Amino acid sequence: MRKSRELKHRYNPYSTSLRGLNALQRKRMGEVQFKRFSVCVLFLMLGICLLSFYHMLFFPRISLKGSRVVEVEYQGKYQDPGFLSSYQGKDITSHVQVFGEVDSSKLGDYPITYQVTYHGVTTTKTRVVKVVDSVKPKIEFVSEHKNLYICPNTKYLFDDYKATDNYDGDLTKEVEVQQRGSIMRYQVEDSYGNQTVVERKVFYKDIDGPTLTLDSPTTVVLQKGEEFIDSTYQVKDNCSEDVKVRVSGDVDTSQVGEYERIYKAKDESGNTTKVVQKVVVMEPVKKGVIYLTFDDGPRSGTTDIILNVLKEKGVKATFFVTSGGPDDLIKRAYDEGHSIGLHTASHDYSVVYASIDSYFEDLKIVSDRVERVTGEKSFLLRFPGGSSNTISKKYTPGIMSYLTKEVVSRGYRYYDWTIDSRDAEGGGYSADEIAKFVTSKLSHDKVNMVLMHDIKVVTTEAIGKIIDYGKENGYTFEAITPYTDMVTQRVNN
Ligand code: ZN
Repeated sequence: MRKSRELKHRYNPYSTSLRGLNALQRKRMGEVQFKRFSVCVLFLMLGICLLSFYHMLFFPRISLKGSRVVEVEYQGKYQDPGFLSSYQGKDITSHVQVFGEVDSSKLGDYPITYQVTYHGVTTTKTRVVKVVDSVKPKIEFVSEHKNLYICPNTKYLFDDYKATDNYDGDLTKEVEVQQRGSIMRYQVEDSYGNQTVVERKVFYKDIDGPTLTLDSPTTVVLQKGEEFIDSTYQVKDNCSEDVKVRVSGDVDTSQVGEYERIYKAKDESGNTTKVVQKVVVMEPVKKGVIYLTFDDGPRSGTTDIILNVLKEKGVKATFFVTSGGPDDLIKRAYDEGHSIGLHTASHDYSVVYASIDSYFEDLKIVSDRVERVTGEKSFLLRFPGGSSNTISKKYTPGIMSYLTKEVVSRGYRYYDWTIDSRDAEGGGYSADEIAKFVTSKLSHDKVNMVLMHDIKVVTTEAIGKIIDYGKENGYTFEAITPYTDMVTQRVNN
């Protein structure tokens, strides 16, 4: 121990060299050293000043606008905040070259280097662009967000949530779920460290009704007198094994009309589900009955005369109207017990059959008109040109094949004709000829659906003759009702 202290002592050069000096000598020596130090500092500062001055004079300058560190959101667009460059007060910004690219589809730091060379001297500056992800991951639930309902006496299956992130994609497997009392806590973090926490209240309770699907269509159309059979069905419940189904609602197929058959399923917790089946009982079109139908009206000066004749002879008919003519003639026909059907608003084939949407837009206009005038929606249709028309092919191939099914599924029924009076043909036929075209085709064994047009003057003269002939030969006349079965021709487009 002693030895080592001596060694240390011996090897200390300051302590040995200063040992022989007195206080005054030591002070002087300190002053000399201080002077030397001051001179050194002075030279150093002068050097720095000269260097800066030299730089200012002979090096170009670059100054960056904005921050030296810039953040850009993932998938965002990086816009350089800008820069300026000068040389001895002169603007040389256009000489600056910028190096480096930012790929915002990848997180990370991207250096952007600004370099300018002027009179053979180069200056560079760097900015760092950080591509960051500040969007939190999302946790979504299959059912309700706030509450979690678990069937009584069962376990949570951890299968009703999904976590996604803008950067990491599917993070469902990373979700940590913890239950604290009646609270279920879902937590997930993306690779950038953004965290999402969602809490839900847990209830051991069944709040969902059973699912009930009928094997038959929800609208069933029957002929009068046909037998109605209840639909079979599939029923399932999320919690209950034992689900009861009750069926109610009267259907009387001996009477035309619309009926509702109600299927109601109930689970063990008392949740119910109801499905209503609509049953439409139709009347077959009667053989030996004459259904007079008038298209394209109403029109002042013709429709009113036809209504007069029908009234005088006590006959009911059907008018398939357009958006033309006066409202009051539709109202009068309706009030006098005739049926109002829908023909077309525009009667322009290029509009009506331009597309399926176009057909239904045109139909809506005339449908709205009839409802406005009569206070009742009509579901009786006659296609412009009939369902067998081929002119529609010119505008939309296949449209009639589609429309004839679609109108029925929307609750409409369409009526073509079995006898054409030819009153709309350009042949210039007389009233006698028109009447003959019709009466020569009447039959007691067939359906007599007669096509006429109440906008034609000749029809006003022919109609009385047709009715008189029909009556004399044992025919009756009826209007189409909402439950008259359809009369259809072959679809050709
Ligand atoms: Zn027409």
